Amino acid sequence: NHETDAVKVYFFPFLGGGHQIPMIDTARVFAKHGVTSTILTTPSNAAQFQNSITRDQKSNLPITIYTLTTPKNTQLPEIGMSAGPMTDSSVLLEPVKQLLLQHRPDCIVVDMFHRWAGDIIGELKVPMIVFNGNGCFPRCVLENMRKHVVFENLSSDSESFIVPGLPDRIEMTRSQVPSFRRNKSEFTDRMAQIEEKSLGIVINSFYDLEPVYADYIRNELGKKRWLVGPVSLYNRSVEDKKERGKQPTIDEQSCLNWLNSKKSNSVLYISFGSVACLPMKQLKEIAYGLEASDQPFIWVVGKIFNSSKSDDQTCSENWVLDEFEKRMKEMDKGLILRGWAPQLLILEHDAVGGFMTHCGWNSTLEGVCAGVPLITWPLSAEQFINEKLVTDVLRIGVQVGSREWGSWEEERKELVGREKVEFAVNKLMVESEEVEEMRRRVKSIAEKAKRAVEEGGSSYGDIDALIHELKILQIGKDV
Ligand code: UDP
Repeated sequence: NHETDAVKVYFFPFLGGGHQIPMIDTARVFAKHGVTSTILTTPSNAAQFQNSITRDQKSNLPITIYTLTTPKNTQLPEIGMSAGPMTDSSVLLEPVKQLLLQHRPDCIVVDMFHRWAGDIIGELKVPMIVFNGNGCFPRCVLENMRKHVVFENLSSDSESFIVPGLPDRIEMTRSQVPSFRRNKSEFTDRMAQIEEKSLGIVINSFYDLEPVYADYIRNELGKKRWLVGPVSLYNRSVEDKKERGKQPTIDEQSCLNWLNSKKSNSVLYISFGSVACLPMKQLKEIAYGLEASDQPFIWVVGKIFNSSKSDDQTCSENWVLDEFEKRMKEMDKGLILRGWAPQLLILEHDAVGGFMTHCGWNSTLEGVCAGVPLITWPLSAEQFINEKLVTDVLRIGVQVGSREWGSWEEERKELVGREKVEFAVNKLMVESEEVEEMRRRVKSIAEKAKRAVEEGGSSYGDIDALIHELKILQIGKDV
């Protein structure tokens, strides 16, 4: 009986944390909907996720990790390490190809950044779906920039232009656009090709967050798409939330105990994601800005950019993060976390009332789902576009005022000063009519997010619709 065969889906995430995490959440929810899910990843990523997958297996979810072995002497970026979109992941394709030839799953879901996958998987005739790691709004902005001439008549990088063809008036400058998107490139062409060879795109978003843009993708861009998120909400237990993505290196209980001692909505949570790497002189400006604002905070200090430039060295000699940390602790003003923080648990704590974020898509959605307004501090990737969604379209955040896109590998040119930090923190954390409005708006979106993933919700329905299509293809294949 064909109808009772479980649909087998392979999930092939890109390498960095911001890509692995949402795709594993997606694999998990597909398994909950009866699909047999297999995640294809690298050895050290597999080790990071094994605990949470074992827990899923114990509760009888049909989900496994398959570890791809790569040719000797090839080094791949792993979770938390810099894996920008330009990273060449093509060495992984040969083992993936062999696997597909052997097992022939009903479908493979491929991250959009594995752009070499288009030709290889296309040839094998295994149905392919592209996983779009960011939302509908950034997708539309980037697509319209690719299709229309937008940069040619600009006299400088700081001159603004209106993104053509969009339902909202979105103003940007060239310096906010990822360098690999400023010109027509092999990169963007290949990403477009992989979509053309796919059945459609899976997007980590939900209809009520960006209905106009969800419709735009279908009606104006002519894409078949399924909105299946926010996928972070598929982590229901404390264990899952804590270990999502990685074994936490921070004792979550002491962090939550500290939050328990704080008033509702009083603490600012600060994190710049899994890849960002700020120089010490920028950390110093953040620290002074925070101290001047006098608002309680939890700050996850990620990797620090090891600058060879003398001014940064001088700065770190004169100013020591450890001392700031000690002082803040003694005054009971703030916690500095070094390592991998349990972000979902922190964000959903009642004491957290604001989130200073680099606007990575996952963090943005996680803040929204927790009903917390944002301070936007975009750095790289499509983060400046996500900022526009937060501040101009949804109106649930304030900008710190960062202006310049920077690549992952190089030291950032732009330094955001302490005055800007203090101003943005006070604007968001000191209650005002404006902030009350933002809070009301973001809480209402958070409610809609929860409804979207429940039975009867839009994302729940899109997952079932996609699985139904795969079942029909499966039956067709066997006949
Ligand atoms: N994250 C976390 N703890 C950390 C840092 C990051 O759990 O200390 C998670 C965060 O919750 C999010 C992901 O890592 O799910 C980061 O993805 P995002 O798209 O926000 O940014 P990226 O790391 O890709 O720049």
